[in-house]
Formats: sequence, structure tokens, C-alpha cells
Amino acid sequence: MFDKWHEECGIFGIFRHSEAARIAYLGLYALQHRGQESAGIVSSDEQKFFVERGMGHVADIFDENTLDRLKGEIAIGHTRYSTAGDSTLKNAQPVVVTCSKGNLALCHNGNLVNAQQVRDRLEKEGSIFQGTSDTEVVLHLIARSRKPTVEESIQEALAQLTGAYCLVFMTRDKMIAVRDPKGFRPFAYGFMNGSPVVASETCAFDLIGAKFEREVEPGEMLIFSGAGSVESRQIFPPVQHSHCIFEHVYFSRPDSFVFGQEVYKSRFQLGIYLAREQPVAADIVVPIPDSGVVAGLGFARESGIPLEFGLIRNHYVGRTFIEPKQSIRNFGVRVKLNPCAHLIRGQRVVLVDDSIVRGTTSRKLIKMVRAAGAKEVHMRISCPPTISPCYYGVDTPTKRELIASSHTVEEICTYIEADSLGYLSYDGMLRACGDVEKKGYFCTACYTGKYPVAFPDGAL
Ligand code: AMP
Repeated sequence: MFDKWHEECGIFGIFRHSEAARIAYLGLYALQHRGQESAGIVSSDEQKFFVERGMGHVADIFDENTLDRLKGEIAIGHTRYSTAGDSTLKNAQPVVVTCSKGNLALCHNGNLVNAQQVRDRLEKEGSIFQGTSDTEVVLHLIARSRKPTVEESIQEALAQLTGAYCLVFMTRDKMIAVRDPKGFRPFAYGFMNGSPVVASETCAFDLIGAKFEREVEPGEMLIFSGAGSVESRQIFPPVQHSHCIFEHVYFSRPDSFVFGQEVYKSRFQLGIYLAREQPVAADIVVPIPDSGVVAGLGFARESGIPLEFGLIRNHYVGRTFIEPKQSIRNFGVRVKLNPCAHLIRGQRVVLVDDSIVRGTTSRKLIKMVRAAGAKEVHMRISCPPTISPCYYGVDTPTKRELIASSHTVEEICTYIEADSLGYLSYDGMLRACGDVEKKGYFCTACYTGKYPVAFPDGAL
């Protein structure tokens, strides 16, 4: 069975660079926020592939020795996050196979909504799968294609798949980037001293000194070959785009340029609109780091209420945390966030965050801020209530676990024990993210329950 919907990833590729693997490593460093569970790089020296993959952070997996082993002038890399049940090295990417088309490596960001159906069919027909990731399905379909070239085989394979995908393939001597026709996830294309690069986000280009050219267009295949030539093919007819608005709200880094707008600008404007729509009489604005920081700044600027970093984040918290046997009270969230009591004491505090998912974080934080002496605690959220899970590549819990799917704003306010709770409106969110004219430009399924790519029967 797939652990279907739970994949968040960052992908990177560089073509024709003397230090391809080292550049890919730096690119992945900048994309670490898109996936912290495993990472990998595959390079090619045109004779063979060199593979390094591991569990954990990019910095823990690669060192001088592993990077030295990754020879050649082409490299693709991946950072991956998935839920616990699926956290094995088997599913770490890039995926590498040898098939009738030769050696082929692949990195994927997104989610294929009909992957299970296609996989069931392929298994009935005798295919053997190694991991539980839906990415393997793409490679099986390519391997079975009778088309003469790898580019046509990829096109034929993708024509059978629906959902969200940014893909970067590597053959012995080519790199191929493809984005799904609706353009769910971001995918940037540029050059580093003449060498073509692709990455999930432009922040990866900034780190390596590459220049952003444009996005890989929805439905486009970019083929990098020879000494560095680039061919563009539109492999799917144009359809209405569905860019993930949550990339602007939370997921992308604020220093990235995504779907035609700086993420920082979107978040700042989300905060401005939030302050206009959900004003509150308060003494300080405290953003929840890091997710609420830029929106908090916008809220403070618009409301005129001073911003204070009243909650300080420990950036070095790992996934597992061993607590003392003699329990200390109020552990939980305090490991990651600790209040500056002298800022908070006696104040009316507005907490600003990007979203409430299950409600547990907000509830704990509000308790903590009250315990630090706040007179009032008001919660402001820089998007509408999250009512439906994402099936296109963002890790969200089931609908049942999403507090806003079954509770009103008043009920959520009571649960998190806030003095007041206010969300940004749907229109406010669209406007903040630059969608004034282009209605329908974004996928907003997590806020509306309206899914722009349909699911096969029984897929949910
Ligand atoms: P919760 O306690 O479930 O309500 O979680 C809310 C917190 O999770 C907020 O601070 C968000 O910034 C953060 N968050 C929202 N969506 C995601 C996501 N897809 N992955 C990780 N964290 C998230």
C-alpha cells in the first residue's frame, strides 16, 4: 500500500557543471525545509551513475567523502518528508533503475492521485515494486513504454497519471524536467554560470549564485542535453492552473519567488489584510516563529501595535526528544518555543500564526503565554480555516483530525482557550497572494474542499 498523500519534498538538478554533486548538495541545503526525513543525490559521469542517499538532514548525510564519490557533470537531488510509517531508506529519493531505456534516475515532488490504481494494474500484470512511494509507478510506466526515446516514454507514462508532480529525471547524458499541467507545486529554472539548473524554489538558486530564468511551465518538459542545450516541449494541452496557495501561506521559504510573486510579499500582505479584517485592541503582536513571523510583521505594521518576539524558537529540536523520567510540567511545546515573560507579563497579546491544523499547538502556546503573565491572548490566523486534507503533496492529517472541518470558529476559540480568534477571509487570502484578476489561479482545496483534480473511485 502507498502511504499516499503524505509527501513533502524539495527537488534540484544541475546539468554540465564540473562540481555538479557539490552544487546539488548546496541546492538541497536551501530546500531542507521541504523535507527533513531523507535526502539523496545521484550523479552521472556519462558512463555510470553514482548514488548517495540517507536518512536525516542533508548536512548529516553528505560529507567530503560522499560528495567526492559523486562523480560527473550532471546531478539531481531530493529532500523528502513523509509520515512515520513510511520512513524507510527504501523510499528515499532519487529513485534509480536500469531498464530498456538505460539507467534512469528520478526525483519527484507532489502526489499522483491515481498511483494506487495504476500500481494495482501493474502488479496484476507482473510488475514488482521495491518501496511504497508512488514515484516508482512513473518508472514502471516508462520502462514498459514502447516509444523509441526516453522523452517520449516519459510523456506516454505521464499521460496515464494524474495529480501533482514536479519531476527531474537523469539519464546517462541528459537531464529532463517536467511539471504537471496544472502546476500545483513550484518549479524554478535558471542558470549557474551557463549551466542549467532546476529547483523547487528560487532560494536554492540564491545560495549557489544562479540566476532565475523562469518557472518550468505547467505541462512543459525541458530537455537538457549535449554541451548544455535546452529544448522545451509543451507535452500537455493548456488547462486551468491550480497553483498551491499554501506554498505562499506556509510551505515555501519567504525568500523564494513562487508563482510570480515573492513569498515574503504574500505573507506580509496576508498579515496586513488580517489586521484590517480582524482588528483587536492589544498591546503587542507576537508572531509564532517561524511560520507566523512575516504575517505578524504585516499585522503589526497595519495595526500600529508593536511587534515583539515574545516567543523564541529553539532551531535544533530533533524529531525525537527524550524527557526526564520525573516529569517536568509544561514540557511539550516548550522544547521548541519558550516565552520571554518580561515582554508578555501584564500585556494584551495578539498571537499570529499561519494555520491551525489540529489545534493542539495553539492550545498549548496560549496556555504557555498566559502562564507567562499575559492579561489577554488573542489568536489571529493568516488564512481561512483548514477544512480539508491536501492530496497534492502537502502533509495534512485526515479530515476528521482537522479541527476546523467539524468545529465553528467560536468552538475552536473555546478549545484553544483564546480570548478571541480571527481568521483571514478567503478573498483576503487570494488578494494577498496576488490573485486579484486571475480567479481560479490557485488550488485552495484545503480551505474549500473543492479539488481541482478528481480522484479515482475509492481513492480516498
Ligand atoms: P496544530 O497543532 O495541528 O494545529 O498545528 C499548527 C501548526 O502546524 C502551525 O504552527 C503551523 O505553522 C504548522 N503547520 C501547518 N501546516 C503544516 C504542515 N503541512 N506541515 C508542518 N507543519 C504545519
